[in-house]
Amino acid sequence: MLVTLKEILAIAEERQIAVGAFNTPSLTSLLAIREAAEELSLPVIIQFAQCHEPWIPLSVIGKIMVDHAKEAKVPVCVHLDHGETLPYLQQALDIGFTGIMYDGSTLPYEENLENTRKAVEMAAKTGASVEAELGSMGKRESGAGDGSGQEDDTKIYTDPAQAKRFVEDSGIDALACSFGTTHGIYLTQPKLDFDVVRNVRSKTGNMPVVMHGGSGVGKEDFHKAVQAGVRKINYFTYMDKSGGSACADYIGTLQKNEPVFFSSVIMEAQKAMKENVKEAMKTFALMD
Ligand SMILES: [Zn+2]
Repeated sequence: MLVTLKEILAIAEERQIAVGAFNTPSLTSLLAIREAAEELSLPVIIQFAQCHEPWIPLSVIGKIMVDHAKEAKVPVCVHLDHGETLPYLQQALDIGFTGIMYDGSTLPYEENLENTRKAVEMAAKTGASVEAELGSMGKRESGAGDGSGQEDDTKIYTDPAQAKRFVEDSGIDALACSFGTTHGIYLTQPKLDFDVVRNVRSKTGNMPVVMHGGSGVGKEDFHKAVQAGVRKINYFTYMDKSGGSACADYIGTLQKNEPVFFSSVIMEAQKAMKENVKEAMKTFALMD
């Protein structure tokens, strides 16, 4: 059942849980996530990030994502993750995406606000909802750091007072906040500041807060984040890693000279990603 970002976040708010948002840059990941959500009977957000375009174009996977969402037995939002340009947001809306994220977090505040407002106007025409970002998580969605191997110190935590103005002036439906998480693989144990989430919520009339960089955060911290008011958790890196590890393990079990069939390898990846996503979904829904 295809639903909007706003609708799926209302379900999360009512149940006081967070909905998992998983990237689908392959049919294998899409099938793994859909099966996980249907087996657990939980709502889910499937999303595609603009930076994954080299792996598979939005024009190819986007329509398939929308079809799967319509056929699914659970509520599914099809969301654009980290849209960096307005024409790309429009492309996702034209395909039928029900949520779009405009990421202007690296721009000056006024420019971020102006573009986010335009995104809200564009989305209103199709009934889709909008997520935007304030503050900076340092590394970009690709997880690429500066190559130094050091934890980057360019993170800027979201300012709750600025968040209030931004939410009121932009008309968005969800706000991605920076409170200590990083995209990609953590180099050091993350220290999360849940007061940022609580203060943003209280100043914005309980605007759903989105947590990016969910991979590598401990279960206890996920629970605290949900209790503080996080309603959408973006999770991809560790799911992707679980699929890759399963492929490597499977190939390692084969005898020398035994043929490696690609279809067998991707089935191993799909099974592993499904289990990984189920664990994450249960944690975000406070079932585990
Ligand atoms: Zn992100």
